[in-house]
Amino acid sequence: MKDEGLVFNIQRYSVHDGGGIRTIIFLKGCPLACPWCANPESRKVVKPAFWIKNGKKEIIGEWRKIDDLVNEVMRDEIFFRTSGGGVTISGGEVLMQADFAGNLLKEFYRLGVHTAIETTGAFPLDCVEKLTPYLNQVLFDLKIMDSNRASEVIGINVNNVKKNLEFLLTQKHIEVIPRVPLIPGYTTSTQNLEAIANYLKSLSIKEVHLLPFHQYGSSKYEYLGWNYTMKDVPTLTSTEIDNIKKIFEDKEVQTNIGGL
Ligand code: SF4
Repeated sequence: MKDEGLVFNIQRYSVHDGGGIRTIIFLKGCPLACPWCANPESRKVVKPAFWIKNGKKEIIGEWRKIDDLVNEVMRDEIFFRTSGGGVTISGGEVLMQADFAGNLLKEFYRLGVHTAIETTGAFPLDCVEKLTPYLNQVLFDLKIMDSNRASEVIGINVNNVKKNLEFLLTQKHIEVIPRVPLIPGYTTSTQNLEAIANYLKSLSIKEVHLLPFHQYGSSKYEYLGWNYTMKDVPTLTSTEIDNIKKIFEDKEVQTNIGGL
């Protein structure tokens, strides 16, 4: 049993990333390379990294046992129960530590805590299947639909993404919420958004969450000593967001800005 995983952050009392008050467990490791990534410290392989923050070296990532994590998170059980919240496993990409994530989710599920993940669906289906028995909700990101561009820009296989989303939709105990990060120059072309809207419509999905670009992660690139190519990119105007909403709503897919 894989009972130890690499965790780089735990965020309590979150009111995003699932319903109610939640604890978000961020797993380190992501094979993708989204230029807009707000958690660049999570990227690449599953091993601890470091950055220099305010002149001090900090290690990113700590190996944690399942029992230890469950004990820590369950201290907030009262908030989960009274708010309809629970636990969300995020990243990085949760599927990169699929065995550990599956075992961790199993424990929370057994304890009756609402469970969610955030994923890009970037791994083969057998990784997803390790998690699905223990999931109540999946926040599933769709980014770039053109296969060549998706592979070239972020290193993702769109066929895997689609297979995973379509499989999750057959799992009737799971609420699947598609989300689209709205990233100028990458995901917001009319062509890309129409491709996503058409795809969602073909799957009879009635709602999508749209996540407008922000600069929250920009200082992290400095700590890591990495180049951040998005630093001069402005956030979207309300008119631009309205135009994007219309692309989905014209296909009868309702929009939620900012998501849960
Ligand atoms: S999938 Fe998420 S964690 Fe991975 S590079 Fe993209 S934005 Fe960052």
